Amino acid sequence: LDDDIKSARRALAGLLGDMRAGVAFTGAGISTECGIPDFRSPGGLWTRNRPIDFEAFLSSREMRDEAWRRRFAMEAAFGGAQPGRGHRALARLIAGGRLAAVVTQNIDGLHQASGVPEEQLVELHGNSTYATCLACGLRHELSWVRARFDALGGRAPDCRACDGPVKTATISFGQAMPVEAMTRARQFTHDCDVFLAIGSSLVVYPAAGFPLEAKRNGARLVIINREATEFDALADLVIHADIGDILDEVQ
Ligand code: NAD
Repeated sequence: LDDDIKSARRALAGLLGDMRAGVAFTGAGISTECGIPDFRSPGGLWTRNRPIDFEAFLSSREMRDEAWRRRFAMEAAFGGAQPGRGHRALARLIAGGRLAAVVTQNIDGLHQASGVPEEQLVELHGNSTYATCLACGLRHELSWVRARFDALGGRAPDCRACDGPVKTATISFGQAMPVEAMTRARQFTHDCDVFLAIGSSLVVYPAAGFPLEAKRNGARLVIINREATEFDALADLVIHADIGDILDEVQ
């Protein structure tokens, strides 16, 4: 193993030694080793498709068709993704009672898959592994949406109960943040002793406000990311390296 990785692992182990109620805040970087590209790295999703914002989704049937076409293309590409070394490390810290919660910006469902219990997981941007009706809130499984989409010749289906627009249970640009998830994330952040920001470029607000909030409340801040972030200068420990390499043996 590289000397830099070894010394970063030691520094992290030192800082986490007395952690009792940590919070891990994760972004797309924790899932890249699982084969899911992030948004902002070269070749990331951002550079390929301009995201469809909430207003466009609501107001245009063609945009809804396009959104579902993209979702099923993603399913074909990453549908079989499994949790990686980072997800597994955080699940161990949760199981050991050292981490109070995982707060994630990801929508890929991999923290659940790694065994983080629902009451200790906050999905700030929702979850793309199922869909809901924007009018009545009814949940629709992806398999149902897929079957309707195919039957309609590649058109977005409407809600089976009220004919409202059906969207993945994710938060799009321009869509309100989920109130309950924000409240839980703030509470966990307020109460934590160590805040670990992992694999996020920390530029998407309001989510990116959490590291600052934690620091203000006296938590130690750790940033693990391949590239520099705006918050590096505030952190007690910054590690610019591969997440899986760093977290692999964390206990
Ligand atoms: P981002 O793409 O803005 O930032 C990811 C960061 O992770 C980058 O700074 C990159 O350098 C770093 N990174 C990537 N792979 C890494 C690795 N193996 N080791 C260390 N660092 C690594 O992602 P974000 O901050 O999460 O914001 C993007 C938004 O996109 C979020 O809102 C999220 O909902 C969404 N998104 C989610 C997924 C997913 O669910 N897996 C994927 C892409 C985008």
